[in-house]
Formats: sequence, structure tokens, C-alpha cells
Amino acid sequence: MPEVLDMFCYQCSQAAGGIACTKRGVCGKVPTVARLQDNLVFALKGMTAYLYHARELGYTDPQIDAFLEKAFYTTFTNVNFDPSTFVSYALKTGEMNIRTMKLLKKAHIETFGEPVPTEVETGTRSGRAIIATGHSLKALYELLQQTKDTGINVYTHSELLPAHAYPGLKAYPHLAGNLGKAWFDQRQLFAKYPAAILGTSNCILIPTDAYRERMFTTGPTGLPGVQHIEGYEFAPLIEKAMELPYLEEEKGDVVLTTGFSKSVVLSLAEKIKQLVEEGKIRHFFLVGGCDSPTKKAEYYREFVQKLPRDTLVLTLACGKFRFNDLPLGEIEGIPRLIDLGQCNDAIVAIEIAEALSQLFGVGINELPLSLVLSWMEQKAVAILWSLLSLGIKNIRIGPVLPSWVNEDILKVLQEEYGLRLIREAEEDIKEILKV
Ligand code: SF4
Ligand code: SF4
Repeated sequence: MPEVLDMFCYQCSQAAGGIACTKRGVCGKVPTVARLQDNLVFALKGMTAYLYHARELGYTDPQIDAFLEKAFYTTFTNVNFDPSTFVSYALKTGEMNIRTMKLLKKAHIETFGEPVPTEVETGTRSGRAIIATGHSLKALYELLQQTKDTGINVYTHSELLPAHAYPGLKAYPHLAGNLGKAWFDQRQLFAKYPAAILGTSNCILIPTDAYRERMFTTGPTGLPGVQHIEGYEFAPLIEKAMELPYLEEEKGDVVLTTGFSKSVVLSLAEKIKQLVEEGKIRHFFLVGGCDSPTKKAEYYREFVQKLPRDTLVLTLACGKFRFNDLPLGEIEGIPRLIDLGQCNDAIVAIEIAEALSQLFGVGINELPLSLVLSWMEQKAVAILWSLLSLGIKNIRIGPVLPSWVNEDILKVLQEEYGLRLIREAEEDIKEILKV
């Protein structure tokens, strides 16, 4: 068994033994404070990703910037040793992240229009190709503009799937489909197709020799030995695509549907209310978040597969690729699988939950709604704190608990918020539905 460190801090010159403080800080910092500081830094980092994408489209908010400065400052050496401050700051980060996700949603909608449910092909057309991965709709838009009339087909991968539903992006006929699933299939997928590749944000993987020379990065991404493009000047990427052979036409295994915006879902609200009152919809689930290449994450497919037919599943982020090929059907015209979009569209899920709570005249925690989340990186941490800041209880999280959570922190999360780790899919379903 590896030694479990109480904490790990090496941010100042006093680090114990010139290496790190691992039991208690030389400055007096205790392990729970060190871990809460780590948690805060991760949540803040997650929030900055959304802020970055909003700024890409010209949207900023000085109140969020001011909060970031102060919150980061609390984590400096000899500034704040009070654990309760760091719980408050985590919750405040959650609130600020809601504000940030709203800003980004506004930027997306005002720039590209509000998404509409859209079917997306998962096969290839005959012709040259560029595959874009990551989250940046701005980078994808610039790429679509610059590849117009070149004969190059542009495919999305992973978190860019929801781009197909935005009117300002779907208007480009050479936005040809989505290839692959969540981020970690990149090495096989990118080696398989002779396409040029653009990484616009996380999650990108260090490429293999099979495709390194046809991969490009932009924005915050970077890879050793891979050409980086600034300012959305995609000429080198387009030139590379023009040198490459044609992709062969290949039918996809499935047609995916994405683009259930807030307006679309709320236009169904009265019908949903009626179906709930008639007992035809028993429960809503939000199953989504980041995906990760671990056996435990198979839980999410099993969970959705085993849900009774009188339940609806809202989903978002790349975790949906675990189950978005399942033919879940519909309940009197309401699709049982509703893809709300990227991870930042957690704001859409929140606003829908708030609208349902008004519609039914109960608090969010009294709704027949359960959240079953998967997390991988720091944006998911920011979103988790957003949900906690709204007082949402009994969230199930997996595939594992965050490693920086120690017993003290877990106790607070369990006692105050009922946060719990996923167990077996069937066991969780039975517990939620009380069957
Ligand atoms: S800030 Fe405190 S805990 Fe961190 S390295 Fe310096 S002395 Fe150690
Ligand atoms: S949702 Fe999370 S895991 Fe998936 S691509 Fe985005 S950052 Fe990566």
C-alpha cells in the first residue's frame, strides 16, 4: 500500500526538509486546510475554463474576475488558516461558477443562436477531413468559416458534439458529423482516420507517432512536437488536411440527437407536468459529467440501461457517450434521453430543475429528480460546488471520491449535503426509486 500523505504542500521555501510539508505545515497549516485549499484551487481552475471560453466570444464579468483574485489570494502562504473560510469560499466559487456558466451560455446563444434538437451522423463522408476536439465553439466556428468551399469536411469529437445543434454552426453543410466518443478514444480514432486534427481545449492526449504530424493545438492547449496555432489562423491546419488522402465513406453505427436547450425543454413543461400527474413519468435523472477510462465508469451505462421505462434521463458533458447510443425511446412524445450539451450546460440543467420546481410548487430537493454525476477534472469540481451552493442534496458521485477529500471533509459533505459515492447500479436505482 502506498503511504497516504495527510497533505502535500511545497509552495514556499519553508517546505519541510526542502521537499514538502506532508504532516502539518511548517507555517502551521493543518492537513484539512491544505486539502480545502487544494479543493478551492481546483474549483477556481475549473471556473476559469468557462470564463476563458466566454472571453473568446467577447463576454467578461469584472465581478467574477475580482472574486478570482481574492479567492486565489486566500491560498497563499500565511494568509488564511481558517478551515471554515475555505468551505465558504468553495461555496462562493460554486455561486460564481453559476454566474460564469450563465455568461458563457449567453455568449453561445447570442453568437450562435439557441440550440435546437439535431440529429448527428457518426459515420464519414468521402473526402478530406479535419476532426476538432475540445470545447471551443469559437475555434470551431472560425474553422468552419475558413474551410468553407475547400471541400474539407469538419467532424467534431467528444465535447464538441453539441456544436451541431447551434443554428450558427449547423448552417455550415460541411460540419459533417461526430466521430468517436469521449476524449480517451483519441489515440485509436485519430490513428484510424487520415484527417488533420485540432485540439481546442481539454481533454487532449499526448499523440502517438501515427498522427502527431497531422495534429494541431490552439488556445490553451499544447503538445510537444505539435504545431500550435494562435489567433484562429488555421491556414497550416487546412494545408495539412489538403495534403492528406480522402476518408472513405462509412456509415455510422448510430445517429445521435443533441441540442435540448432550456427553451426546448420548457416548451414541453406542461406536457411533462401532465405525464407526471398521470403517473406516466415517475422520476427524472441527471446522469452526466466527465467520462474517464476506468472499469468503474461502466456503472453509468448499466445505470441508464436498467432504469424503468417511466423515467427520463437528462445528460450533459462527455459522460453521455457511455449511454447515448441506447435506444431509450420516448414517453408520449417526450424523449427519454435528453442531451443538454457540454459540461458548462450544467447551467441549463440547473435552470430546468428550477423551472420544474416552480411548476410543481416544491423545492428542488422535493422534486422526483436525482443527480448521478461522473467527475474527472477540475471543471467538474466547480460544477459540484455550484450544485452544493444551491443546496442540492443527495448527489451521487463517481467513479471515485476526489483524492483531496479526507475524513473531515467527507463528513461535512455527507452530513450537510448527503453526498455519496456510487455503488452498484441496480442497488442505487432501487434506493432512489424506493422499490
Ligand atoms: S505554505 Fe506552509 S505548508 Fe505549504 S510549504 Fe510553506 S510552510 Fe509548508
Ligand atoms: S467533460 Fe470533462 S472529461 Fe470530458 S472532455 Fe470535457 S473536461 Fe474532459
